[in-house]
Amino acid sequence: MASISLENVTKIFSGDVVAVDDVSLEISDGEFVVLVGPSGSGKSTILRMISGLEVPTDGTIKLDDEDITTAKPKERDLGMVFQNYALYPHLSARENISFGLRMRGGYSDEEIDERVTEAAEMMSMTDYLDHRPNELSGGQKQRVALGRALVRDSKAFLMDEPLSNLDAKLRTQMRTEIQQLQQRLDMTTIYVTHDQTEAMTMGDRIAILNHGELQQFGTPIEAYYRPNNVFVAGFIGSPSMNFIDVSVDHSGDGTSISHQKFEWEVPDHIADSIPSDETNATLGVRPEDLTVNDGDDPQIPVTVDVVEPLGKEQLLHFSLGNEMHIASITEHVLVSEGDEIRIGFDPEDVHLFDAE
Ligand code: ADP
Repeated sequence: MASISLENVTKIFSGDVVAVDDVSLEISDGEFVVLVGPSGSGKSTILRMISGLEVPTDGTIKLDDEDITTAKPKERDLGMVFQNYALYPHLSARENISFGLRMRGGYSDEEIDERVTEAAEMMSMTDYLDHRPNELSGGQKQRVALGRALVRDSKAFLMDEPLSNLDAKLRTQMRTEIQQLQQRLDMTTIYVTHDQTEAMTMGDRIAILNHGELQQFGTPIEAYYRPNNVFVAGFIGSPSMNFIDVSVDHSGDGTSISHQKFEWEVPDHIADSIPSDETNATLGVRPEDLTVNDGDDPQIPVTVDVVEPLGKEQLLHFSLGNEMHIASITEHVLVSEGDEIRIGFDPEDVHLFDAE
């Protein structure tokens, strides 16, 4: 397998659509990296540039130390798996899997058979190797597409939303299968999804994109606990982080923040995340880090607008000023719509961002 690097890669489409804006990424040999972001954020364009289906307007792409920026797709030896499977409808699963090897030449029939059998066993699809795509379910088709990428000696795997056509249960199952396969074979993998849960659960590291710009590149834990900005903080985690506009006062010993309903001294290491002359900031706190009537400091008096029971937990919707917010708390706290409650949080659990 190989490492992949993007150095200051930009893609501008005809007209002036900046699909990818000065993105740099270093992906190590054997690493599973997920590109995640909303629709239109440039994920597929990055994958297509790595695969050779698009040529960057600017910047360099390397496979190990080799510059492949303008190399043709077939010169790159990369296995691709797409959302729509891209199988040949008139060929059986077995023929679809072996097609690339036959086209490339240099493999004996025995060797092709051996590789197909091995991939079929790995992907638990020996039972339907002689079926055509129209006789296969979505999950089976995606296994065939994965098998086809596996039998070639690919230097890396590129997967573009491979699970988005599958139902929720199968998606979770295939997610685990792909992860196990990736770890077992130590395959360098770049995986595109718009689903932050998929990104968080699958990636060794995740690259979070918005409007073609890389917002953060790190482990899922880093993105969750130390988001670089409001976009990452709001995108990672479900339900989304609550944001509250606050005023900042640096005139005392430390830094304090205030809102019409609360005032509070910020721990230094959290205050450090905004410039020391900034007078406005955005306070971020995750729904799961909020407490209700718990005596923690600070306490914010609010009225419960809506209670959404979800089983073990419940979501409380409340407003501060014009903004709606959510607290996720255990089912054991008895709260009803219209109740006056005090919302609290551990000061260590909050984030401060530059005001938008
Ligand atoms: P994502 O995969 O994150 O949904 P894409 O990489 O497909 O995003 O697209 C990024 C941006 O580039 C979008 O604004 C999209 O409309 C634009 N784009 C993608 N492909 C083309 C193309 N071939 N021609 C013009 N614009 C394109």
